[in-house]
Amino acid sequence: MVSQEQFYRDTWVEVDLDCIKENVQQMKSRLPIDVEMMAVVKANGYGHGDVQVARTALDAGASSLAVAFLDEALALRQKGIDAPILVLGATRADHVNVAAKNNITLTVFQEEWIREIGALMEKDVTISVHLKLDTGMGRIGIRDESTLQKIERLINEDDRIQLEGVFTHFATADSLDLSYFEEQLARFKEMVEALHNKPKMIHASNSAAALRTTNYFNGIRYGIAMYGLTPSVEIKGELPFPLKEAFSLRTTLVHVKKLAPGDKVSYGGTYEAKEEEWIGTLPIGYADGWIRRLQGQEVLIDGMRVPIVGRICMDQCMIKLPKELPIGTVVTLIGWDKKEHVSIDELAERLDTINYEIPCTISSRVPRIYVKSGKTIDVKNGVLQA
Ligand SMILES: *Cc1c(COP(=O)(O)O)cnc(C)c1O
Repeated sequence: MVSQEQFYRDTWVEVDLDCIKENVQQMKSRLPIDVEMMAVVKANGYGHGDVQVARTALDAGASSLAVAFLDEALALRQKGIDAPILVLGATRADHVNVAAKNNITLTVFQEEWIREIGALMEKDVTISVHLKLDTGMGRIGIRDESTLQKIERLINEDDRIQLEGVFTHFATADSLDLSYFEEQLARFKEMVEALHNKPKMIHASNSAAALRTTNYFNGIRYGIAMYGLTPSVEIKGELPFPLKEAFSLRTTLVHVKKLAPGDKVSYGGTYEAKEEEWIGTLPIGYADGWIRRLQGQEVLIDGMRVPIVGRICMDQCMIKLPKELPIGTVVTLIGWDKKEHVSIDELAERLDTINYEIPCTISSRVPRIYVKSGKTIDVKNGVLQA
């Protein structure tokens, strides 16, 4: 319970690493032996904690990591991760030496970028790159064969640049209708054929594609499902194994009071007690990512659902209590409390968004604590202490 001593507020995220381990193992066990799993830990491990998720995934069968930005890769290196890391997004050419010195693999999709890094790279460094192909996502990537071949040639002409992989990203692998997915897949195969030499790593599938199809090539990029969340509500019924949600958000009652009929709660006085009511105050608000639009959302106390009443403030919000309850009582905003559950999908539906956005939005002001082998554990320098 040391983690609890490292912060001084009564709101925390609990990340169950046992769930992440199981979500990784379940997927890994379905992959052919020669297919690698890349654990996607961008955005601080989708809000769960980058290094903790990375270590858990690597222990459970992932062989490399992927992030969106170079900063995220460097943060993992600083925390002692030495597994291969691929930066999926764009990296500025003038950052190539930093990437190279930290053994971080970059994504390439522009001819000019290859020329630039060639001019900027120090003599004795080497950089490993993956080609990104835009087969229909319309985000980043090479869109035609002639550019692809020019880039391949430029890479081959420079001994310091090693072409390790080629990949694409699907736009609709999480919708029931897979026709556009099939088009992208066909285009990917066609473009890969245009390469003179096939790189070692060919990868296309995100969680949705890996869960629903066997288009693994040499590897998959496993993100949302690792955290126990479905890639979309639509395909929930198609999942080949149950996903275990790792993320819980809890707080405690810091104040409890009885209101008389007509008493108001919070900014704007939008909530008015109709009768004598018990109201609890929670030390969490929109600055924690518990946004104002969650007004009216139910939270769990003592295994019961109770509503948030009045406006959510920056640092606090109020709930209606079934009766007088002691200060310090744990309140679950996301996760299980006895037999009741508030899922991330429930919040996503209320906010008219996707589950991915919910844990990412819970801000860094909320400390993360970790559960491993059923026990709360501490993290020091990125190493989980038993
Ligand atoms: C985020 C991301 C992934 C992971 O997608 P999930 O749906 O979370 O599995 C894979 N590839 C790329 C390029 C990404 O940006």
